[in-house]
Amino acid sequence: MKKITALVILSLLILSCQKTETKAVTETSTITETTEQEPTKPEETEVWEPKPPTVTPGKNNAAPSDAMVLFNGENLDEWITAKDSTAAKWLLNKDGSITVNRGTGDIQTKQNFGSVQLHIEWKSPSEIKNEGQHRGNSGVFLQKRYEVQVLDNNDNETYSNGQVASIYKQSIPLAKASVPTGEWNTYDIIFHAPEFDAEGNKTKSATITVLHNGILVQDNYELKGTTEYIGWPKNVAHGDGPIVLQDHDSDVSYRNIWVRKL
Ligand code: MG
Repeated sequence: MKKITALVILSLLILSCQKTETKAVTETSTITETTEQEPTKPEETEVWEPKPPTVTPGKNNAAPSDAMVLFNGENLDEWITAKDSTAAKWLLNKDGSITVNRGTGDIQTKQNFGSVQLHIEWKSPSEIKNEGQHRGNSGVFLQKRYEVQVLDNNDNETYSNGQVASIYKQSIPLAKASVPTGEWNTYDIIFHAPEFDAEGNKTKSATITVLHNGILVQDNYELKGTTEYIGWPKNVAHGDGPIVLQDHDSDVSYRNIWVRKL
Protein backbone atom coordinates (compact mmCIF):
# COMPACT_ATOMS: atom_id res chain seq x y z
CA MET A 1 0.00 0.00 0.00
CA LYS A 2 2.81 2.33 0.95
CA LYS A 3 4.48 1.54 -2.37
CA ILE A 4 1.31 2.34 -4.32
CA THR A 5 0.84 5.64 -2.44
CA ALA A 6 4.44 6.57 -3.10
CA LEU A 7 4.01 5.77 -6.80
CA VAL A 8 0.87 7.87 -7.06
CA ILE A 9 2.56 10.82 -5.34
CA LEU A 10 5.56 10.46 -7.63
CA SER A 11 3.35 10.33 -10.70
CA LEU A 12 1.45 13.41 -9.57
CA LEU A 13 4.72 15.22 -8.93
CA ILE A 14 6.04 14.33 -12.42
CA LEU A 15 2.77 15.45 -14.02
CA SER A 16 2.80 18.71 -12.12
CA CYS A 17 6.42 19.32 -13.11
CA GLN A 18 5.58 18.63 -16.76
CA LYS A 19 2.71 21.12 -16.61
CA THR A 20 4.97 23.77 -15.13
CA GLU A 21 7.57 23.08 -17.79
CA THR A 22 5.00 23.38 -20.60
CA LYS A 23 3.81 26.70 -19.17
CA ALA A 24 7.35 27.99 -18.91
CA VAL A 25 8.07 27.04 -22.53
CA THR A 26 4.89 28.76 -23.70
CA GLU A 27 5.78 31.94 -21.84
CA THR A 28 9.32 31.91 -23.24
CA SER A 29 8.13 31.47 -26.82
CA THR A 30 5.63 34.31 -26.39
CA ILE A 31 8.43 36.60 -25.22
CA THR A 32 10.60 35.51 -28.16
CA GLU A 33 7.81 36.30 -30.62
CA THR A 34 7.06 39.78 -29.32
CA THR A 35 10.42 41.05 -28.12
CA GLU A 36 13.53 41.34 -30.24
CA GLN A 37 16.59 39.98 -28.63
CA GLU A 38 19.39 42.48 -28.11
CA PRO A 39 21.83 41.80 -30.97
CA THR A 40 25.10 40.32 -29.81
CA LYS A 41 27.09 40.57 -33.07
CA PRO A 42 27.91 43.72 -35.08
CA GLU A 43 26.58 42.15 -38.32
CA GLU A 44 23.08 41.86 -36.83
CA THR A 45 22.58 45.64 -36.91
CA GLU A 46 24.05 46.25 -40.39
CA VAL A 47 21.57 47.22 -43.15
CA TRP A 48 22.90 46.78 -46.73
CA GLU A 49 19.82 47.56 -48.81
CA PRO A 50 18.66 49.88 -50.24
CA LYS A 51 21.78 51.66 -51.46
CA PRO A 52 21.39 55.47 -51.70
CA PRO A 53 22.30 57.03 -55.07
CA THR A 54 25.78 58.44 -55.45
CA VAL A 55 25.90 62.24 -55.71
CA THR A 56 29.09 64.06 -56.60
CA PRO A 57 29.42 67.27 -54.57
CA GLY A 58 30.32 70.54 -56.31
CA LYS A 59 33.46 72.42 -55.32
CA ASN A 60 33.02 75.77 -53.52
CA ASN A 61 29.24 75.41 -53.29
CA ALA A 62 28.86 74.61 -57.01
CA ALA A 63 25.87 72.47 -57.94
CA PRO A 64 26.17 68.78 -57.05
CA SER A 65 25.73 66.22 -59.83
CA ASP A 66 21.99 65.68 -59.31
CA ALA A 67 20.98 69.35 -58.92
CA MET A 68 19.08 71.51 -61.36
CA VAL A 69 21.03 74.69 -62.03
CA LEU A 70 18.80 77.76 -61.93
CA PHE A 71 21.54 80.33 -62.45
CA ASN A 72 25.22 79.78 -63.08
CA GLY A 73 26.27 83.23 -64.22
CA GLU A 74 25.61 82.84 -67.94
CA ASN A 75 21.98 83.75 -68.57
CA LEU A 76 18.51 84.13 -67.09
CA ASP A 77 16.99 81.37 -69.24
CA GLU A 78 15.38 79.66 -66.25
CA TRP A 79 13.64 82.88 -65.10
CA ILE A 80 10.78 85.14 -66.12
CA THR A 81 9.27 88.36 -64.82
CA ALA A 82 6.74 87.35 -62.17
CA LYS A 83 4.03 89.91 -62.93
CA ASP A 84 3.64 89.28 -66.68
CA SER A 85 5.71 86.18 -67.56
CA THR A 86 7.92 88.16 -69.97
CA ALA A 87 11.69 87.63 -70.09
CA ALA A 88 13.47 88.41 -66.81
CA LYS A 89 14.96 91.90 -66.96
CA TRP A 90 17.38 91.81 -64.04
CA LEU A 91 20.95 92.88 -64.78
CA LEU A 92 23.44 90.20 -65.75
CA ASN A 93 26.89 91.13 -64.41
CA LYS A 94 30.33 90.18 -65.72
CA ASP A 95 31.25 88.49 -62.42
CA GLY A 96 28.59 85.80 -62.90
CA SER A 97 25.90 87.42 -60.78
CA ILE A 98 22.59 89.17 -61.37
CA THR A 99 21.32 92.35 -59.74
CA VAL A 100 17.76 93.48 -59.17
CA ASN A 101 16.72 95.82 -61.97
CA ARG A 102 14.66 98.09 -59.75
CA GLY A 103 11.13 98.64 -60.96
CA THR A 104 11.07 95.67 -63.33
CA GLY A 105 9.61 93.53 -60.57
CA ASP A 106 10.18 90.13 -59.01
CA ILE A 107 11.57 87.30 -61.11
CA GLN A 108 10.51 83.68 -60.81
CA THR A 109 11.59 80.30 -62.11
CA LYS A 110 9.87 78.95 -65.19
CA GLN A 111 9.55 75.64 -63.39
CA ASN A 112 7.35 74.91 -60.41
CA PHE A 113 8.72 73.09 -57.40
CA GLY A 114 7.41 71.14 -54.43
CA SER A 115 9.80 70.16 -51.64
CA VAL A 116 13.36 71.21 -52.36
CA GLN A 117 16.87 71.78 -51.16
CA LEU A 118 17.88 75.20 -52.46
CA HIS A 119 21.29 76.84 -52.54
CA ILE A 120 21.46 80.55 -53.29
CA GLU A 121 24.03 83.29 -52.72
CA TRP A 122 23.22 86.96 -52.28
CA LYS A 123 24.98 90.25 -51.68
CA SER A 124 23.76 93.57 -50.31
CA PRO A 125 24.82 96.68 -52.24
CA SER A 126 28.13 97.95 -50.86
CA GLU A 127 26.91 101.53 -51.07
CA ILE A 128 24.82 101.87 -47.92
CA LYS A 129 21.53 103.62 -48.55
CA ASN A 130 18.38 104.01 -46.45
CA GLU A 131 17.43 102.29 -43.21
CA GLY A 132 15.44 99.43 -41.72
CA GLN A 133 13.46 97.47 -44.30
CA HIS A 134 14.65 99.80 -47.07
CA ARG A 135 18.34 98.81 -46.86
CA GLY A 136 19.26 95.93 -49.13
CA ASN A 137 15.84 94.31 -48.99
CA SER A 138 14.98 91.39 -51.23
CA GLY A 139 13.70 87.90 -50.52
CA VAL A 140 13.67 84.28 -51.60
CA PHE A 141 10.13 82.93 -51.89
CA LEU A 142 9.38 79.22 -51.95
CA GLN A 143 6.32 78.31 -53.98
CA LYS A 144 5.79 82.07 -54.55
CA ARG A 145 4.30 82.31 -51.05
CA TYR A 146 6.83 81.72 -48.31
CA GLU A 147 9.57 84.32 -47.93
CA VAL A 148 13.02 83.90 -46.44
CA GLN A 149 14.00 87.52 -45.89
CA VAL A 150 17.08 89.03 -47.50
CA LEU A 151 18.15 92.28 -45.84
CA ASP A 152 21.25 94.32 -45.04
CA ASN A 153 20.87 94.15 -41.27
CA ASN A 154 24.42 95.22 -40.44
CA ASP A 155 24.19 98.18 -38.05
CA ASN A 156 20.61 98.45 -39.19
CA GLU A 157 17.86 97.57 -36.76
CA THR A 158 14.42 96.39 -37.77
CA TYR A 159 11.68 94.19 -36.31
CA SER A 160 13.13 90.77 -35.43
CA ASN A 161 10.56 88.76 -37.38
CA GLY A 162 11.44 90.76 -40.47
CA GLN A 163 15.21 90.76 -40.12
CA VAL A 164 17.66 88.94 -42.34
CA ALA A 165 16.94 85.16 -42.53
CA SER A 166 13.57 85.53 -40.83
CA ILE A 167 10.59 83.69 -42.24
CA TYR A 168 8.96 87.00 -42.91
CA LYS A 169 6.68 88.04 -40.02
CA GLN A 170 6.54 84.46 -38.72
CA SER A 171 9.82 83.17 -37.43
CA ILE A 172 12.71 85.13 -35.90
CA PRO A 173 16.04 83.59 -36.96
CA LEU A 174 18.11 81.80 -34.30
CA ALA A 175 21.06 84.07 -35.10
CA LYS A 176 22.13 87.01 -37.24
CA ALA A 177 24.81 85.42 -39.38
CA SER A 178 25.46 88.00 -42.10
CA VAL A 179 28.89 88.70 -43.56
CA PRO A 180 29.95 92.36 -43.95
CA THR A 181 27.83 94.46 -46.31
CA GLY A 182 28.95 94.03 -49.92
CA GLU A 183 30.25 90.46 -49.41
CA TRP A 184 28.55 87.26 -50.53
CA ASN A 185 26.16 85.41 -48.20
CA THR A 186 24.91 81.87 -48.71
CA TYR A 187 21.50 80.46 -47.92
CA ASP A 188 20.97 76.71 -47.87
CA ILE A 189 17.27 76.05 -47.54
CA ILE A 190 15.42 72.78 -47.00
CA PHE A 191 11.74 73.25 -47.69
CA HIS A 192 8.99 70.68 -47.37
CA ALA A 193 5.84 71.77 -49.14
CA PRO A 194 2.48 71.87 -47.34
CA GLU A 195 -0.22 69.33 -48.17
CA PHE A 196 -3.94 69.88 -48.70
CA ASP A 197 -6.87 67.47 -48.98
CA ALA A 198 -9.46 67.37 -51.80
CA GLU A 199 -11.62 69.92 -49.96
CA GLY A 200 -8.70 72.33 -49.82
CA ASN A 201 -7.98 71.96 -46.11
CA LYS A 202 -4.36 71.95 -45.06
CA THR A 203 -3.43 68.49 -43.80
CA LYS A 204 0.28 69.13 -43.32
CA SER A 205 2.12 72.39 -42.74
CA ALA A 206 5.18 73.34 -44.73
CA THR A 207 8.47 73.15 -42.86
CA ILE A 208 11.66 75.07 -43.50
CA THR A 209 15.25 74.81 -42.37
CA VAL A 210 17.71 77.56 -43.28
CA LEU A 211 21.48 77.73 -42.94
CA HIS A 212 22.84 81.26 -43.33
CA ASN A 213 26.55 81.13 -44.14
CA GLY A 214 26.53 77.61 -42.73
CA ILE A 215 24.87 78.65 -39.48
CA LEU A 216 21.50 77.18 -38.53
CA VAL A 217 19.01 80.04 -38.39
CA GLN A 218 15.68 78.27 -39.01
CA ASP A 219 15.38 74.80 -37.51
CA ASN A 220 12.61 72.84 -39.20
CA TYR A 221 10.16 75.70 -38.62
CA GLU A 222 6.53 74.81 -39.25
CA LEU A 223 4.99 77.55 -41.37
CA LYS A 224 1.66 78.99 -40.27
CA GLY A 225 0.81 79.85 -43.88
CA THR A 226 1.83 82.51 -46.40
CA THR A 227 4.22 85.25 -45.29
CA GLU A 228 2.05 88.35 -45.53
CA TYR A 229 3.22 91.97 -45.33
CA ILE A 230 -0.16 92.93 -43.87
CA GLY A 231 -2.46 90.51 -42.06
CA TRP A 232 -2.30 86.91 -40.89
CA PRO A 233 -0.79 83.95 -42.75
CA LYS A 234 -3.15 82.43 -45.32
CA ASN A 235 -3.67 78.76 -46.18
CA VAL A 236 -5.37 78.61 -49.55
CA ALA A 237 -4.71 75.20 -51.15
CA HIS A 238 -2.04 75.15 -53.84
CA GLY A 239 0.26 72.81 -55.68
CA ASP A 240 3.87 73.23 -56.74
CA GLY A 241 5.01 76.79 -57.34
CA PRO A 242 7.99 78.77 -58.62
CA ILE A 243 10.92 80.12 -56.64
CA VAL A 244 10.67 83.92 -56.64
CA LEU A 245 13.34 86.56 -56.04
CA GLN A 246 12.02 89.87 -54.81
CA ASP A 247 12.51 93.33 -56.30
CA HIS A 248 12.18 95.50 -53.19
CA ASP A 249 13.78 98.60 -54.71
CA SER A 250 17.32 97.67 -53.56
CA ASP A 251 20.33 96.69 -55.70
CA VAL A 252 20.67 93.21 -54.20
CA SER A 253 22.66 90.67 -56.25
CA TYR A 254 22.39 86.89 -56.55
CA ARG A 255 24.59 84.12 -57.91
CA ASN A 256 25.10 80.36 -57.94
CA ILE A 257 21.52 79.18 -57.61
CA TRP A 258 20.72 75.48 -57.71
CA VAL A 259 18.00 73.22 -56.46
CA ARG A 260 17.53 69.54 -55.66
CA LYS A 261 14.01 68.15 -55.68
CA LEU A 262 13.19 66.22 -52.52
MG1 MG B 1 11.97 91.05 -48.51
